[in-house]
Amino acid sequence: MRISNREFLYLLVIKGVNDKGSGATIFGVAKALGVSTASAYEEINHLIRKGLAEKRGDGIYITEEGIREMNSLIRAHRVIETLLVKAGIDPDKACELAKMFDETLPEEVVEKLYEYLGRPSKCPHGREIPST
Ligand SMILES: [Zn+2]
Repeated sequence: MRISNREFLYLLVIKGVNDKGSGATIFGVAKALGVSTASAYEEINHLIRKGLAEKRGDGIYITEEGIREMNSLIRAHRVIETLLVKAGIDPDKACELAKMFDETLPEEVVEKLYEYLGRPSKCPHGREIPST
């Protein structure tokens, strides 16, 4: 089961802070996402229970598993986008539509589409399709 786009956004914010060398805080994440601290607290605890994030000395950090799950969602999203654009749908619309499937399309279907498309290295927006 892939992570949701909401989980992805939280992980993206946490990873962004971690990449700058420190742990994320509930307050900081809430502010970055424009949600209440209560919502951020709840969602971050959910991510910790799923093993996608963890508490360490100075705050919250994304785990290896969290990074892997982020890549899996990006891969699914970009493969679907590539397919839709190939079918004649405009890239921005394709991005919007891909969000309807990228969370739920099974891994093996994503891989079949990837092969079908001739193993593309980039999505229609020129962004890299991460490997599994
Ligand atoms: Zn997109």
